[in-house]
Amino acid sequence: MNGDSVDIDLARAWVQAIAATVDQHKDHLTQLDSAIGDADHGVNMHRGFSAAAALVGMEPDPVGAVLVKVGTTLISSVGGASGPLYGSVFRAIGRMLDTPTATTQEFTAALAAGLESIEKLGAAAPGDKTMIDAYAPALAAFQQRADAGADLAAAALAAADAAEDGMRATTPMQARKGRASYLGARSIGHQDPGAASTALIFRALAETAATR
Ligand code: ADP
Ligand code: MG
Repeated sequence: MNGDSVDIDLARAWVQAIAATVDQHKDHLTQLDSAIGDADHGVNMHRGFSAAAALVGMEPDPVGAVLVKVGTTLISSVGGASGPLYGSVFRAIGRMLDTPTATTQEFTAALAAGLESIEKLGAAAPGDKTMIDAYAPALAAFQQRADAGADLAAAALAAADAAEDGMRATTPMQARKGRASYLGARSIGHQDPGAASTALIFRALAETAATR
């Protein structure tokens, strides 16, 4: 393992780090969802990622096998919209990583496949006040850094910062997808819970990559 590649240990550590940060921010995610949804986003994320973190550990190469398993676990253990959406993201990322170690460029392509899968399944676009509003800027920042020759840790740090900016930018938006869209203009003024959990996922990647 060097600083410029994603291997199976890093993939596992990322999943564990997501589970830990979701555990820590569970109540916050639920609070956000209680304002414009049904107050289950923290519980959904916690259920899904605890189950996923408990299962990963014994997969052999390729590196993507861990992430495909995470995706499948999220789909089967989370009832809310976020389970199938994040499930499809992790399955799509994992399927692109059919290699023992992936370069930062290969990981960029995998993250891009993850975004495509949310857009396809959720039929949402940037500006609809969803997890896409954190994911799309995170991917763009990651890609820009990777293209400039940055290593994984630097690209992931830029992505995490961009995801948090994107998350904050959802507050003035009106929701056009998911439960929050039922509120119409009353969804304005609240941060999107799924954008907040996406920011946690990218921050977990940055922190995991930084400690290697
Ligand atoms: P539910 O809405 O079923 O209660 P969660 O509360 O777990 O599920 O997740 C809600 C989050 O899912 C939203 O904040 C939003 O970011 C995301 N979401 C909902 N619908 C869509 C969609 N069609 N496309 C993309 N993301 C969506
Ligand atoms: Mg909800």
